[in-house]
Amino acid sequence: MSHSQNQHIVLASRPEGELAVTDFRLENTPMPVAADGEVLLETIFLSVDPYMRWWVRAEKSYNDPIEIGQVMVGGTVSRVRQSRHPDWREGDVVLAFSGWRRFALSDGSDLRRLSPMAAPPSTALHVLGMTGFTAYAGLCNIGKPKPGETVVVAAASGAVGSVVGQIARIRGARAVGITTGAEKLAYVKHQLRFDAVVDHKAADFAEQLAEACPDGIDVYFENVGGRVFDAVVPLLNTYARIPVCGLISQYDDAPNGGGVDRLPATMAQVMGKSLTVRGFIQTEFAGEQMADFLEEATRWIGEDKLRYREDIVRGLENAPGALTGLLKGRNFGKTIVQVGDL
Ligand code: NDP
Repeated sequence: MSHSQNQHIVLASRPEGELAVTDFRLENTPMPVAADGEVLLETIFLSVDPYMRWWVRAEKSYNDPIEIGQVMVGGTVSRVRQSRHPDWREGDVVLAFSGWRRFALSDGSDLRRLSPMAAPPSTALHVLGMTGFTAYAGLCNIGKPKPGETVVVAAASGAVGSVVGQIARIRGARAVGITTGAEKLAYVKHQLRFDAVVDHKAADFAEQLAEACPDGIDVYFENVGGRVFDAVVPLLNTYARIPVCGLISQYDDAPNGGGVDRLPATMAQVMGKSLTVRGFIQTEFAGEQMADFLEEATRWIGEDKLRYREDIVRGLENAPGALTGLLKGRNFGKTIVQVGDL
C-alpha cells in the first residue's frame, strides 16, 4: 500500500484516574523523507507495554514523562523503505524504537537488523526481545532459583510472566503461575507446562496459593503487587528472593492495587525472614547479558522448552485500546499492534 501521508498517535491529555482511549489523538502529518545518513522506516509491528502507563504520568520515574502532544514511544519492528545510510538497505527488517507512528526517520544508531528467516520478526518485541530479557535478567540475577525451589509469578500467561515460569523450570525449579480466567489458567498449566496455576480472582485465592506451594515460596517474581503480593508474603521462606519487576495492579491509578497498605508488616517479614527485595529495570543488565539471552532463548524455542503467545490487534488507530485493555488484563499473550504488512 502506498501512503501520501504519515500518521501518528500523541498523548492528548494526562489520565485522571484510569487511562482512557480519549487520552490519545490520531494525527495526519506530512510524509517524512530521509536526508543523508538517515533511513525511512515503515512500522510493521508496534509493541504495547505496561510501562507506557507510567510514562504518561506527570511525575518523572526512571525516565522523563511523555509530554502532552508528544508522539507515544514504543518498540517497533519496521521495514526500511528508503535508505540514505551506507549500513542499511531498502527492505531490511529492523528492531527500532520509533513509537506510535506509521513512518519514522532514524539515523540508524538505534536499529538492530532482524533475520525474518531465523524467527518471526514480531518475536523481537517479546520472547526474543525486551520482555523475554526482563524475565531472564530478573530471574537469573536476582531470583537465582535452585533446583527444587518454588518460583511464583503472576501475569503468568503474559509476556514476562510466561518466560519467568518456563526459565524457572529449565533451571529445575517448580513454577507456580497466577492468572485468571479458564482459558489463561489452562494455557499456563498445559501449554506453558507450569507445575501449578492459581486464579487470583478466586474467593479462596490465598488458600489455593498456599496449597500450590506446600514447601513455601523461594522466589516471588513480582509483576503485579496489590492483592497478589498480600497472599504471597505469608508463604515466603527464609532467604526468599523477590525481583521487583512491575506492579501493574497499581499503575492505573489504584495506589494499593486493591490490596491493603501493609508496609510495616511486610518490612517485619523482610527482616524476620532475611528476604532479598530488589527492584530492577531490564536496561541495567541488557548491555552485558542480552547477547547471551538471545542465544539461549533461541535455542530453548528450537527445543520447544520456551513457548509464547501473541495477542495481535490490527491498525495503528487501535493502539490506545490495546494499551487500556492490557492494563485491565484483557490481553492474552504479548500485546502487539500490527500497523503494516509483513
Ligand atoms: P502482560 O503481557 O503480562 O500483561 C499484563 C497482565 O497483567 C494482564 O494480562 C493481567 O494478567 C495482569 N494484570 C493486570 N492487572 C492486574 C491486577 N490488578 N492484578 C493482577 N494481575 C493483573 O504484561 P508484561 O508481561 O509486558 O508486563 C508484566 C509486568 O512486567 C508489568 O508489571 C510490567 O510493568 C513489568 N515489566 C517490567 C520491566 C522492567 O524492566 N522492570 C520490563 C517489562 C515489563 P491476568 O489476566 O493473568 O491477571
